[in-house]
Amino acid sequence: MATMITSDCINCGACEPECPNQAIREGDSAYVINPNLCTECVGFYGAEMCQEVCPVACCLPNQKMREGEDILYARALKLHGADEIPKQQDLDEKTSRFRNKDWDNEVDDDAEPAEDYSEYWDE
Ligand code: SF4
Ligand code: SF4
Repeated sequence: MATMITSDCINCGACEPECPNQAIREGDSAYVINPNLCTECVGFYGAEMCQEVCPVACCLPNQKMREGEDILYARALKLHGADEIPKQQDLDEKTSRFRNKDWDNEVDDDAEPAEDYSEYWDE
């Protein structure tokens, strides 16, 4: 799943510099995540770093955009190249939330992104 930011966002800006993919930007009423750039931090961290630093825990899995490790890893590879991330077979609890047994980002079926990301990116 791509991660999304809900309307609970207080616009603190803490998440934006932490994203390894520059997938987060300030929006109109809340920060927004581009799902075409979000890898749920696969390749870099064992949990979604935006959610890790968010003071109000509003960076949640988007249930309408479910994606597995294969797809997210392929995206990370495309964005960064093979020299920048571990080989997929070497991913572990620190570089893939799918391998992190302590991963516990809340899943809320009714949650929605606060804003449509597409206004803020061309890609
Ligand atoms: Fe960026 Fe990771 Fe958050 Fe996705 S989950 S927006 S890749 S920090
Ligand atoms: Fe919004 Fe959380 Fe990002 Fe702060 S860290 S801008 S509250 S999503």
